[in-house]
Order: sequence, then C-alpha cells, then structure tokens
Amino acid sequence: MEVDIVVCGSGAAGLTAAVVAANAGLEVLVVESTPWFGGTTAFSGGGAWLPGHRHMAETGSADSREEVETYLRAVLGDKYDPEIIGAFLDNAPAMVAHMEDSSQVRFVANDVPDYEPEHAGWKAGRMLLTADFDTRLLGKLRNRLRPPRRDMGLFHSMQVSMFDPAMFKRFHKSAAAFRYTAARFVRYLADRLRYGRGMRVVNGNALVARLLLSASERGVTLWTEARASELIFTAGAVTGVKIERNGKSEAVDVRGGVVLATGGFGANPEMRTRFIPHADYGWSLQPEGCRGDGIAMGIAAGGAINEGNVANGIWQTTSGYPRADGSMEISIHAFGDRHCPGSLIVDAATGQRFVNEAGNYQRFGQTMHKAGVRYAWMISEAPAARKYGIGLAKPWPFPIRPWLRKNYVVADRTIAGLTGKIGIDSGVLCATVEQFNRNAALGMDPQFQRGADAYSRYNADPDHKPNPSLGPLRTAPFYAVQIRPGELSTLAGLVTNGKAQVLRQDGRPVPGLYAAGLDNNSIWSGHYPGGGCSIGPAMTFGYIAARHIAGTLAARA
Ligand SMILES: Cc1cc2nc3c(=O)[nH]c(=O)nc-3n(C[C@H](O)[C@H](O)[C@H](O)COP(=O)(O)OP(=O)(O)OC[C@H]3O[C@@H](n4cnc5c(N)ncnc54)[C@H](O)[C@@H]3O)c2cc1C
Repeated sequence: MEVDIVVCGSGAAGLTAAVVAANAGLEVLVVESTPWFGGTTAFSGGGAWLPGHRHMAETGSADSREEVETYLRAVLGDKYDPEIIGAFLDNAPAMVAHMEDSSQVRFVANDVPDYEPEHAGWKAGRMLLTADFDTRLLGKLRNRLRPPRRDMGLFHSMQVSMFDPAMFKRFHKSAAAFRYTAARFVRYLADRLRYGRGMRVVNGNALVARLLLSASERGVTLWTEARASELIFTAGAVTGVKIERNGKSEAVDVRGGVVLATGGFGANPEMRTRFIPHADYGWSLQPEGCRGDGIAMGIAAGGAINEGNVANGIWQTTSGYPRADGSMEISIHAFGDRHCPGSLIVDAATGQRFVNEAGNYQRFGQTMHKAGVRYAWMISEAPAARKYGIGLAKPWPFPIRPWLRKNYVVADRTIAGLTGKIGIDSGVLCATVEQFNRNAALGMDPQFQRGADAYSRYNADPDHKPNPSLGPLRTAPFYAVQIRPGELSTLAGLVTNGKAQVLRQDGRPVPGLYAAGLDNNSIWSGHYPGGGCSIGPAMTFGYIAARHIAGTLAARA
C-alpha cells in the first residue's frame, strides 16, 4: 500500500492532521492501535486554548497578539521558545477557521479565564469548547468511537457537557433551566429505549466524533486495531511505516510523511515511573493505548525526548475507589467541591494546608509535588458536601450514604473525631480548621489567597458572599476524602521545530517525520497557561504538520 501520509493515532492531533491533509487533496491513512478511535481526547473536556480565535467577540472580550505574548512570556519565563510559540500563535486562528469552514468541527465560545490571572495579558475566553454532537450521524462508525470514562457521566451513558451542571442544579429555580434539564433527560431516555444508550455526545467525545465524521466524508482510510511499530527509511528520510494488523506486519509506503500522534505514555508503567513524581501514589487517566510508541519510534529515528520541562504531566486533583473488576473509579476534582465554600485540603502527613485549593490543577499538582505531599485529605462540612459534592459523592439529590458505606468518604460528628479516622494529629488539624474558619468567614485567605483571583472564583459558588470560594466548616457531620496526585496526560515528548518536524539530536529535522499532540513535547515545557492547553496545540501542530507535508509534495510535483 502507498499513501501520501500515514497518521499514527486517532486523537485530536492525529485526526486534525488527517482532515487537513485530506482537505489538501492528499491520500491519507489513519492507524489506531486500539479498537476505538479517540484516545485521551475522547475522555477529555474537549477544551482547546486557541488565542486569536474568531469567536472572541462573542465572549464580550477582545484580545491581541501583544497581550497574549505578554501573558505567555510571564507564565513561561525562560521556557518561552519564540519559534514554537510563534508558530502556535500564527497558526491557531487559521486552524480554527479552516476546521470550521472545511470540516464538521464546530467550536463554542465561553468565558473561562486563563489559569494564571495574576499575570498581565490574561483573558477570559481564549479556550474554545466543542459543540455537542448527535452520533447517529456517524452511522456504523459510532461503534468505533471510544466511549468516555465510566466515571465521567450520569447513569448508564448520559454524557454531561461543561454547561449542563449549572442548568441541572437550577432546574427548580427557573423555567429556562427546567426546560433545558427536561429536554436533556427526555432525549436521553428516548435514546436508551431506541438505541440502548445515549446518542448525544459532548466535550472531547463530540470533538472526536466531529473529526471522525469529517475524515470519513473526505475519504480518509481509517483502521482500528492497527499498531504502527516501526519506521522505514530510505537514505535517511522516513518513507514508510510498519503496521501490526490482523496478526501480520505490513509495510505502508508514504510519499509525503508520517505523523506521530500516539498520545504520549500514560499507559506505560516504566516511562511513568521515570517521568512522573509519585507515579505509584496516583493514577494516569489516559487510556490503555497510550504506551509511548510514537516517542519510541521518534527516538529510534534519531530524535530525542525533552528532559527540560518544569512538569511532565497535566496534573489533576483526584480521588479514587477500586471497582470489583480491579479498575479504579476516579473523581477529578476539577469543578465544584474543592473550589467552593465549606471545605479545605490538608497534607495527610502534617495536617496543614499547603496550597490555594481553588487554584488551577496544574499549579495544585506542582505545589503538591514540590512540597512532597504524597496524598492529602479534602475535608468538608455537611451542607457543603451536599451542595457542591465531595469527589465521587455527587451533590444532592444523589445520596452520599453508598460512599460512606464503601469508606471512600469518612465521616464524624467532630473534626477531632475525624482525625482519629484519617490518622492526623488532632491538635494540628483542629488548629488548621479554626484558623481557616476565622478568615473564611470574612472572605479572606491570608495564607494562600484562595478566592482572590478570577480563576479561583470562577469555579466557585457565585451566590456565596462575601467570597464565592470561602466559607467556614461549621456544620456536622464532617466528611473527608483522600486526594491523590493524578495526571490527565503526560507532557514529555519529542523535540520538534515550529513546523512539527521531529529533530535529530544535532537539531536537524528527520525528513518525512512529524510529531503532534502528546508525542510532541509540551510547547509550554510543562507550564499550563489555560484550559485546553493540550488540545489547542495538538490540533494546531496537527494542522501545521499536514500543511507542511502538502506543501512539500506540491513543491516536488
Ligand atoms: C478526563 C480528561 C479531561 C481532559 N480535558 C482536557 C481539556 O478539556 N482540554 C485539553 O487541552 N486537554 C484535556 N485533557 C488532556 C487531553 O485530552 C490530551 O492531552 C489530548 O487529548 C491528547 O491528544 P493526542 O492526540 O496527543 O492523543 P490521544 O487523544 O491520546 O490519541 C492518541 C491515540 O493514539 C493511539 N496509539 C497509541 N499507540 C499507537 C500506535 N503505535 N499506532 C497507532 N495508534 C496508536 C492511542 O490508542 C490513542 O487512541 C484531558 C484529559 C483527561 C483524561
């Protein structure tokens, strides 16, 4: 078989490259090693940080290249790479326009603030979300769309978008929220009866579905259970790739290039142990296919993995409970609970707070690692746990009792009583809570400035005064859940240039070899300027790689 381009991996990076290449008239093959398309992208929130995008005015805000550069220089410090960041900022707006005008991808504006609003140049609205999607449009391909993580939706297969919880919670307070909630539940019930599962997909699942439909409409060849295993070279250039498929190894020749987009190494225990602090204490939330294959192929081609990042993962505040089948049910404390009044988080070893609990998850994880906190306890008063949830124990009307029975949530009538159950010194924890309560009642956190900035207020309770993120823990029972470090994705990847070409150790590109998404080293070197800072660059560098291959082929013709 011979094609113009082989894309290894079917997440945001790979499928964007495939669609853009097909739009340029190239013959494209996508190989996906697992039975499902979508990778970690299909598990994700589908947010994409794409400054300069054309929807900014819809957020009521305005942006400029100067402001985003100011912000990024402040966040990244000496990790600001003008070539890579310049390529991203030049191409991100064009990628958004290309995908919306020439594929099924549709983005949705929103007002999520950047993650480090203490720096000049920050904005709300640089991240775009993906419009919901009806998988009936995918036909049979929908059976090969990776379902989201089991712990992320409601009931059997009801997917919940970023906008849903706010509306669901207000269903008894406004007619619009009631109509919205009723429509979602009725549609889900109808789908269950007719198709056996919910057909409306949202977030990263909708992004993959939209990319898949676009690829299939453009005649891209899409293979599942096809694992790229080895690159083929002619005179130092990549001219093919070996694929393991149906128990056989077959060589596919490429005229233009190979794009490595196999989603990093979250499912590779050796690489996790090497690059992820406290890997054994936490969890990777990536699916089983992300085993570092692309990075290994890049290294075998003479490339190198970047060893200079400030962090090698997108850290997340997680808690988990083992299921009967040995898998973990994991809660990502990314919204609600830890950001809201009536709770705090302490180091399990010292009983003291160590971080602004409502800050962005990357900074939370970095602080946790730097302080050597292997695990922590989130402690909440009863009304807060019922109103905002506490990990897997969702807010009212969902019952908390099953989680108490499983001992995932530990409870006691007093904070002192709780300490005996979670192994923290009683005097220390009571003093920590008392000090927190005194300031929280006044809406202040002199220790960590929780609730003082736009981001830590954004995910909190807007109706709570004087500070949406701060309130004392006063009403029994008190609940505790063990917080462990987890990572949404790995970030250490291959060294590339602004054209997404994999670089040899001497800095020269390997002809015909490109990397995008998590196989490409984090363009932020482990910092995380805003929500969507993985998928935004993944799609943009997929776009850059495809266009570079198309340009090279056109120049040769
Ligand atoms: C719960 C959760 C929420 C998240 N939310 C966001 C968010 O809102 N915004 C954001 O920016 N990031 C988010 N992330 C992170 C983000 O989803 C990933 O970093 C990103 O989607 C990775 O995209 P990718 O294309 O590099 O890899 P993937 O989407 O993982 O795709 C790689 C694919 O390659 C396949 N593959 C592996 N090896 C081979 C091989 N040898 N041959 C062929 N195929 C292979 C894999 O099976 C996989 O399907 C989230 C992550 C999680 C877990």
